Amino acid sequence: MTTTLITGANKGLGFETARRLIEAGHTVYLGARDARRGREAAAKLGTRFVQIDVTDEDSVKAAAEFIREDAGHLDVLVNNAGIVGAGKPVGEVTGSDMQTTYDTNVFGVVRVTHAFLPLLQASDAPVVVNVSSGLGSLAATGDPGRVEFHVALLDYNSSKTALVMVTSQYAKAYPAIRFNAVDPGYTATDLNGHQGTNSVEEGAEIIVRMAAIGADGPTGGFFDKAGPVVW
Ligand code: NAP
Repeated sequence: MTTTLITGANKGLGFETARRLIEAGHTVYLGARDARRGREAAAKLGTRFVQIDVTDEDSVKAAAEFIREDAGHLDVLVNNAGIVGAGKPVGEVTGSDMQTTYDTNVFGVVRVTHAFLPLLQASDAPVVVNVSSGLGSLAATGDPGRVEFHVALLDYNSSKTALVMVTSQYAKAYPAIRFNAVDPGYTATDLNGHQGTNSVEEGAEIIVRMAAIGADGPTGGFFDKAGPVVW
């Protein structure tokens, strides 16, 4: 039985990923920062809720302790929780805005990964999937022919670029763990007021695929549904 934690799984891409991985036979801990939203979502899927606010060190440590006591190890960690950030024109973004966005999208991933490394190392085939974005790709955001070129979000886009490098550094440091970043594509969720052109089923596809790669899969890469992303 594969034991899996997904952060920010009470809605959107995280919830759909949880639904699909449960369908595939994983034992999923549905992570959410809000207990009521988390419990409701977990009840819909018939799975377990774990309170985890990725910006709160104590909450992250308590979640790791809970899963250590409950399962003793973790096979798959999906770092999905993310925020869109300030949503301001580039010149109006402050240092404090950057800190807030990075606290969830970058530092949050490190907080969670750091706390769960011992449990991942206790797995036979540990896998980490970090949910980045095409907006974090320098190649895509620099190409006027791409839709990503036209989305100027200083804090969000750069946080997702940083997340790809964070993924690559972990992959080199921990060759026994498969660490990959993914881009779900522009997906209709609360994050973008449901403006995204992909459904959550389409968006979650690459997250689910990379969560299931097992010990022989790639590591240190960045993937979307079409394959490796140039970043
Ligand atoms: P969403 O529907 O807004 O879901 C975001 C999830 O993250 C929610 O469950 C939210 O919880 C949770 N979250 C936010 N801050 C958190 C924190 N501090 N601790 C724990 N959970 C937290 O958005 P989504 O589109 O599914 O986004 C999921 C991931 O996909 C994000 O990393 C996003 O950047 C990435 N992504 C999305 C798109 C897209 O087009 N939608 C494209 C590329 C990448 P609450 O309900 O409590 O707020």
